[in-house]
Amino acid sequence: MTSIRSIDRFEYRAPGSLDETLDILKTSGTDAKVLAGGTDLILQMKQGLIRPSLVVDVKKVPELNRLEWDEVGGLHVGAVVPLNKLATFPAILERYNILAQACSVIGSAQVRNRGTMAGNICNAAPSADSAPALLCLGAGAVVASSNGARSIDLNDFFVAPGETAIGDGELMVEIEVPTPPPHSAGCYIRHTTREEMDIAVVGVASFLTLSPQDKTLKEARIALGAVAPTPVRAHGAEAFLTGKSVTPDIIEEVAEKAAAEANPISDLRGSAEYRRELVRVLVRRTLRESCSELGLIE
Ligand SMILES: Cc1cc2nc3c(=O)[nH]c(=O)nc-3n(C[C@H](O)[C@H](O)[C@H](O)COP(=O)(O)OP(=O)(O)OC[C@H]3O[C@@H](n4cnc5c(N)ncnc54)[C@H](O)[C@@H]3O)c2cc1C
Repeated sequence: MTSIRSIDRFEYRAPGSLDETLDILKTSGTDAKVLAGGTDLILQMKQGLIRPSLVVDVKKVPELNRLEWDEVGGLHVGAVVPLNKLATFPAILERYNILAQACSVIGSAQVRNRGTMAGNICNAAPSADSAPALLCLGAGAVVASSNGARSIDLNDFFVAPGETAIGDGELMVEIEVPTPPPHSAGCYIRHTTREEMDIAVVGVASFLTLSPQDKTLKEARIALGAVAPTPVRAHGAEAFLTGKSVTPDIIEEVAEKAAAEANPISDLRGSAEYRRELVRVLVRRTLRESCSELGLIE
């Protein structure tokens, strides 16, 4: 078990603009850390897992506080918007139910008051609850540095446990999520050993788009958390499901395929075998939920 210790001395900066933040990150060493809600970062510092010489608190940067949605432009979630604000934002409740489900299971009310979705994915834990939902929704991360801005497809964002595609001197500004297409539905379900305040043993998100004319699935996305070094899509299961009419047997077969694609480890939360079985169960449940919302099954 990792022990808690006092934090080493570090410089603290709280810039008030994006330009100022990017200037600081440009000239700071590679051990500088960005602070959003701090619910991961401060704990890691207390545990001595990281010892940044500089912590850049970005909560006062106006661009990072943006939370907007419109039909054409989609959803824009600034990097410091707290999770509780997201889980109750009307557009998210109405159009991005899968995201509301994912954000509302993270930690406790206190953690969600501080913690952010950007922090959740930048921390890059394989179990990050928002990651499978964002992967299913086709989200992208907008990052900026003093050299300009770029967007990283979430499919290319997670590199390894604790490692992302964000480069030195870069800051995540916002997460952008396209508006879900008509006739689509999704669901995120995770399994934890305790009811609350525990990370996922396995988390699964499914997202389906229906072709209303013939009731086949135009597109199927399935993403898995805590069963590989990074959150992953179950591409084989998705390909098998796409174009099909849903039946209970098909759902069962897709769940089997997703379980076979998972690459879990054994740890104190569960064995690899148990996790694989959980993938099968949770893929089946999330697909049933999504199909029921689309009126395909009771
Ligand atoms: C008691 C407790 C329970 C928890 N339960 C869950 C849970 O159920 N599910 C779950 O997924 N997580 C859980 N967590 C982890 C944590 O709360 C979440 O990951 C949270 O979303 C992190 O957001 P934050 O804003 O606090 O990130 P921070 O701690 O501020 O940052 C996390 C990492 O991201 C980097 N970072 C943050 N913002 C940016 C940015 N704009 N640009 C570049 N890098 C950035 C930081 O430098 C740091 O490395 C829990 C944590 C605690 C303490």
